[in-house]
Amino acid sequence: MPYNKSTIWHPFTQHGIAPDSIHINHAKGAYLYDKNGQRIIDAISSWWVITHGHCHPHIVSAVQAQAEKLDQVIFAGFTHDPAENLAEKLIRHTGEAFDHVFYSDSGSTAVEVALKMALGYWENKGQARQKIIALEHGYHGDTFGAMSAGARSIYNRAYDPFLFEVEHITVPVSGQESASFEMLERVLKANKNNVACFIFEPLLQGAGGMNIYSPEALQTLCTMCRREDVFLIADEIMTGFGRTGSFLACDKAGINPDILCLSKGLTAGFLPMSATLCTRGIYDAFYSTDKSKMFFHSSSFTANPISCSAAVASLEIWENELVQSRIDEISNSHETALKDFKARTDVENVRSLGTMLAFDIKAENSGYLSTIQPQLYDFFLRHNILLRPLGNTVYMLPPYCISKEDLEEIYETLHLALDSLRDERQQCAV
Ligand SMILES: *Cc1c(COP(=O)(O)O)cnc(C)c1O
Repeated sequence: MPYNKSTIWHPFTQHGIAPDSIHINHAKGAYLYDKNGQRIIDAISSWWVITHGHCHPHIVSAVQAQAEKLDQVIFAGFTHDPAENLAEKLIRHTGEAFDHVFYSDSGSTAVEVALKMALGYWENKGQARQKIIALEHGYHGDTFGAMSAGARSIYNRAYDPFLFEVEHITVPVSGQESASFEMLERVLKANKNNVACFIFEPLLQGAGGMNIYSPEALQTLCTMCRREDVFLIADEIMTGFGRTGSFLACDKAGINPDILCLSKGLTAGFLPMSATLCTRGIYDAFYSTDKSKMFFHSSSFTANPISCSAAVASLEIWENELVQSRIDEISNSHETALKDFKARTDVENVRSLGTMLAFDIKAENSGYLSTIQPQLYDFFLRHNILLRPLGNTVYMLPPYCISKEDLEEIYETLHLALDSLRDERQQCAV
């Protein structure tokens, strides 16, 4: 096993088998360019963060201007225009459903903040609640609280003894709705007045395998929680900012959460940042002349002015450009492409929601599945497309600026990849 030359330890990477990292030099729109000038289509928006496209000129100039004016300032006792403007815009763009915005620096920390807000609310009310409900197969980040709320798997096995207990409910995917409702009913009954919150990725579970479930099912779960005064925490870190076809997945689902977590697309993927939005009632539970009731949470880079300016610029693009129609075009294109994938016998669960298209590759044995992922990843890269299947789930989630031609090229390459797997399997059979 040749030892890696670089001193960098990459995320989600087994360096003992991983090939050398691809060295990216610059990016523009839907494209990444490597050191040799090779163009790669970024069909997964660089891990779901890039919304409008790489290096959008409006964000570039906003960030440049802000960098010359104010780099960073402590956010306890101080404030600044980019943070104030962003909060005002976020509240407006989310339909005035929230009253307060708490900034942090990543999706995971936005989730930690959300959980701490919900638990802290009940503590401050003198009616401490101990339980958190989440969905099976959920992903909320890699810090300990977020891992606890997420699915238990090989990804967190080593840490399992240190994760706190969370009640995981069956996902109400098509056909599983009543199992999900019954399970929630049981958990709520067994934990009367003791459930602080229900955290979920609305309509689309990302890392758990691009699982889709219906607005009606989510509405039912939310109504059941509301009856028991259980706070609803929508983790829209991946679904937010247009991914599911509407600005928020909650808009499409017709639900009003108490707490909303935003990150990835918040700055259009330009800089790291997150926000946790909450209702007046939650804020008020911490609002007091008693210092011990304040919200005990902070991170050093809270509301970094340059990140805030990127987020403001991104929302200006939402206000001034035809972002929604770009999203609609991608959705329509996916709808058409679905038919050809549905006609294949080697894939199942062909699905799309907004800008996401996915299918699962059928396999007779699970050993086969474990080799499929790296094989496909390499295949796509050889075709100069960045796609990173989740196990046997192949999906695309492009930036909104992607051209019709590039979408077609991606669909075509997906078919080619499936054909090559099929041919290989046939060869093994003879
Ligand atoms: C990516 C993601 C997170 C974690 O965000 P990080 O910025 O990687 O910490 C949390 N929830 C969901 C739904 C995500 O997709």
